[in-house]
Amino acid sequence: MKPIFQCQLVNDPFGDPALYVEFLFQKRAILFDLGDIHALSPRKLLRLSHIFVSHTHMDHFYGFDYLLRVCLGRAMTLHLYGPPGFIDNIEHRLGGYTWNLVENYVDELVFIAHEWGGGNRMQRARFPCRRAFDREPLPDAEVLEGALLDEHELRVRATVLDHKIPCLAFVLEESQHINIWKNRLEREGLPKGPWLQALKLAILQGKDDNYPIEVNWRDAEEEHVRRFTLGELKRSILRIVPGMRIGYVVDALYCPANVLRLEKLLKGVDWLYIEAGFTHEEAETAARKYHLTATQAGRIARRVDAKRMVPFHFSSRYQDRAEILVKEAKAAFMAIDKETG
Ligand SMILES: [Zn+2]
Repeated sequence: MKPIFQCQLVNDPFGDPALYVEFLFQKRAILFDLGDIHALSPRKLLRLSHIFVSHTHMDHFYGFDYLLRVCLGRAMTLHLYGPPGFIDNIEHRLGGYTWNLVENYVDELVFIAHEWGGGNRMQRARFPCRRAFDREPLPDAEVLEGALLDEHELRVRATVLDHKIPCLAFVLEESQHINIWKNRLEREGLPKGPWLQALKLAILQGKDDNYPIEVNWRDAEEEHVRRFTLGELKRSILRIVPGMRIGYVVDALYCPANVLRLEKLLKGVDWLYIEAGFTHEEAETAARKYHLTATQAGRIARRVDAKRMVPFHFSSRYQDRAEILVKEAKAAFMAIDKETG
């Protein structure tokens, strides 16, 4: 079964981080981190609906200005998420420009900024272009199980890591795939129709197995009505498979608390994009800067049982030697021995 989205690191592993996730059946995309995004065409940027920023160190956030430049004057609402202090960061970036002619813009760009530091509340504020991006408070949103975004088809959950400041790691989770066995539908004598969408929705909404589903249709002779429970239909005509899960981890200290949080968030992910900034020889430098080495990245990938790992966010000191970081991360990921440190 094809996943509903496709991921692309915007730059090579030395470029400032940005992971672009495109939805295959909609003109929509989401982005993890706002590093160097110049390689994304305006067409791609204009598809963005939600952007998740791990933290606002410059290399993860300076793309905000380019995004603003491309989206200004467009009818767009962009949701941005980040760690504590993020709403102020957005306000200050927007405050760096002069906005005396925007009140007459027909198409309005609006930013909705969300800031989360763990727990079950998320602060929010609105920045509408026509009001010169003045900050307007919004009521807090509720966050369950770290889910910053929760839609029928996907969720984005986060955890807070120690990078000497709070830094968010994310997992994008596609909802389960619900496939209908066409031959079984025929065998049961049931027609195709809008009721199948209602059936899928009931599953995505987490209705229990006793939830009633009614199927109505009319053929040449008569009107038909049949009633089922959700559980019956699950057994007879559906195949439900788990959706794809993608982890995104950047700047973090390698310490037990961080590893534990990542394990909780990312267990069994299909793809793990993870920073591998330094060789393990330079573990001391990495720790001083609150970053991961390639070996530590590989160990984390193994610890969370990732199916595949993509190491990136390499320090520029390895510019001509990217392969040593890739090799090192891979070796730790594939290692059979128990982790020792
Ligand atoms: Zn950082």
